[in-house]
Amino acid sequence: MTAELEALRNQAEAELQKAGTEEDLQTVRTRYLGRKGLLTALLRNIGNVPPEEKPQFGKRCNEIKEELSARIDQALAGLASSRRDEVLLRERIDVTLPGRGTRPGRVHPVTQVREEICRIFSGLGFSVVEGPEVELDYYNFEALNIPKNHPARDMQDTFYIDENIVLRTHTSPVQVRIMEKTRPPVRILSPGRVYRRDSDISHTPMFHQIEGLLVDRGVTFGDLKGVLTAFLKQVFGDQTVLRFRPSFFPFTEPSAEVDIQCVICRGQGCRVCGQSGWLEILGSGMVDPEVFKNVGYDPEEFTGFAFGLGLERIAMLKFGITDIRLFFENDLRFLEQF
Ligand SMILES: [Zn+2]
Repeated sequence: MTAELEALRNQAEAELQKAGTEEDLQTVRTRYLGRKGLLTALLRNIGNVPPEEKPQFGKRCNEIKEELSARIDQALAGLASSRRDEVLLRERIDVTLPGRGTRPGRVHPVTQVREEICRIFSGLGFSVVEGPEVELDYYNFEALNIPKNHPARDMQDTFYIDENIVLRTHTSPVQVRIMEKTRPPVRILSPGRVYRRDSDISHTPMFHQIEGLLVDRGVTFGDLKGVLTAFLKQVFGDQTVLRFRPSFFPFTEPSAEVDIQCVICRGQGCRVCGQSGWLEILGSGMVDPEVFKNVGYDPEEFTGFAFGLGLERIAMLKFGITDIRLFFENDLRFLEQF
């Protein structure tokens, strides 16, 4: 029996040497030390050992069990630690490698102009509001005094979704939506995308407008001139010369187109201003009483003015850009200049 015990020990030892994985080690443990293990079975047969050898045999049996168990634990711990080392080695970060810098983005020139204009008008007490780009025909046209078949609809090549829904052709419908919900005084500025079927060097099917509206008691054309003059001098500089030219819009009466003296040639005449010395900047006018009636304002009690301008137009003049399509081509060489 004792010889058998030592043989079993050597056999287990040999298997341990060969065990390379956690799984192998667990197999050895089960085969020798498990409830049905070889060593366990041998110990169970202690009855066959001569009485005088029993204490010695039992003692040796337990020694071998403990030794084997300790060896297996040790080997398992060794495996775990070498696996950790391997992971650490694989995931090691070489802090001496040169960094891969992130190139910071730039604010798009149209966004820069929009933010500047919003800042200027916030200083004049206007709040910034937005409206839907997919708009009802009613808000885009009818409520602004442009009934169906009105010739003014020809001025704006409209994208129709269906008979009653359009991609808004201007930011003016926001005026109507706000006036429907609020009582004067109203001072709002509404920037956003607008859409028209048009594409060439100075037109894109989508572009940006900003609409302004001020309604209160006793607002006059003088207020319109004062606010727009202050605004344009902040954008283009104190020296800016303005001109108010009579014009027509269905939703304002009287209406005025506002020009500034050409910022390129200073009024001498050049290609940008078409030799006229003037640049058209925005459209404006006193809100038509018909529009007030549509939103339930009493035109006898309230007056107001509205204005609208194209952001791309302002950005082109400010930054000397000659083709509007450059704004939307996402060419980094262009965008990184601003
Ligand atoms: Zn010019």
